[in-house]
Amino acid sequence: MTTTDIPLDHYPLTVGGKDFAAHAHFDVVNPATAEVFAHAPALGPGDLDRVFGAAADAFGSWQRDDAARAAALRAAAEALDANLDRLSRLLTLEQGKPLADSVIELQGSSAWLRYYADLAWPDEVLRDDAVGFEAVLRRPVGVVAAITPWNFPIMLAIWKIAPALRAGNTIVVKPSPYTPLTTLAVGVVLREVLPPGVLNVITGPDQLGAAMVAHPVPRKISFTGSTATGRHVATAAGADLKRVTLELGGNDSALVLADADVESIARSLFWGAFGNNGQICLAVKRVYAHRRVHSDLVEALAVIARQTKVDDGLAAGAELGPVNNKPQFDRVRELVGDALDHGARAVSGGGPLDRPGYFFAPTILDRVDDGVRVVGEEQFGPVLPVLAFDDEQDAVRRANDSPYGLTASVWSSDLDHAYDIARTVDSGQVSVNAHGGGVQMHLPFGGHKFSGIGVENGPWGLFEYTELQVIAGPPRKGKV
Ligand code: NAD
Repeated sequence: MTTTDIPLDHYPLTVGGKDFAAHAHFDVVNPATAEVFAHAPALGPGDLDRVFGAAADAFGSWQRDDAARAAALRAAAEALDANLDRLSRLLTLEQGKPLADSVIELQGSSAWLRYYADLAWPDEVLRDDAVGFEAVLRRPVGVVAAITPWNFPIMLAIWKIAPALRAGNTIVVKPSPYTPLTTLAVGVVLREVLPPGVLNVITGPDQLGAAMVAHPVPRKISFTGSTATGRHVATAAGADLKRVTLELGGNDSALVLADADVESIARSLFWGAFGNNGQICLAVKRVYAHRRVHSDLVEALAVIARQTKVDDGLAAGAELGPVNNKPQFDRVRELVGDALDHGARAVSGGGPLDRPGYFFAPTILDRVDDGVRVVGEEQFGPVLPVLAFDDEQDAVRRANDSPYGLTASVWSSDLDHAYDIARTVDSGQVSVNAHGGGVQMHLPFGGHKFSGIGVENGPWGLFEYTELQVIAGPPRKGKV
């Protein structure tokens, strides 16, 4: 089950375009078996001078040639595509997601690289006449430190790598210790098409992330992960006036209005909650359904949950894999247990599957209300509470009554009304009759409130890796 043509032990770090030997290694667990299947290099803070030094050395020439950077990003997309099979297999082994989903993650990553290769952001010339010259430029910040989580290790790394490199920065990327291997493998693949030191992939424990933020070389920290860790990152970066982009946790609501067509929306809503086993920052994490459709919706979602094939991600037909890691598995179990103790009914699922690995049955919870932990906290797993409401304004108030504000959705047969309601929900994106419909390469993605600072994607995502510079003076020759 764990055979692959990628050497799984001591997978090399890519620093300065070369392998970088680490003194120590840590275990990597396959969540489908709960067994160690590989080891990744464990760097410590003492290694970072060399790593950031390589990125700083590469910055000088990398920032100068825009056309070369665009070409390199196109070549990077080609390189990912050429290694699609082995990278996606490795991703499933360490992350757990079904192989088809790993393929989609890799293909999406190369699409993102191509989008940023093609993006143009001309200087803004505000005046170029007989009075004078004024232009606003965007310059790269320098070396970027990128820190990523375990749910979409490659996609979320590429969301940082593509805009940061295209804008002229160099980057050091550290994936989660739960999913280090595929990012390392991507580093090895991309060093064939990028100059040495432009992209450096390193792995190690959480403390390595903290040491990256504290290191004097990076001028920008791009972090995706939990709100709790994001606070630490912001505090540490602030001490050194480093720029930050923080993509943090969410507790997305879906508002299902009284006129929603339950049969036609149920599948889309289900996968908005259970895609990647609910381990998506912007998964639907609580549903507010009008009482007129509530019980039909609960039943429709439970039917889909019971039909969903949960299996090893490498098994044919698997639609959901295991939860990625033991602490997350324990957390989902704890939150479901707490809800059941408070009178909830598990209409489907309700507990782990009876097999090795971190498998949990897709769980639809009824008779659960605001104030119960699984509603108020981010569960980040395959469980969905479905609450009832009588009044739309009250439902919006309950949806907004959260420290988070990542994305949300409104479901209705009256689209104009749904768009009106969408404007009243406080989150970075609100989709109508879909969840996450705005997560596209050309649209800004970022959270309100405790869900983050700054955005990724589109030109706005690239601008986060730049600083404005004004050039102003007397008229240019020929303009007087
Ligand atoms: P996490 O915060 O535990 O870890 C994220 C990364 O930070 C890992 O690489 C980890 O090693 C590193 N890290 C840990 N402590 C650090 C410190 N003190 N300083 C610097 N780095 C440190 O998050 P996770 O459990 O890997 O991911 C799940 C969370 O990520 C969820 O809350 C989810 O909502 C969030 N997330 C958000 C987005 C988004 O775009 N908003 C996307 C995916 C996941």
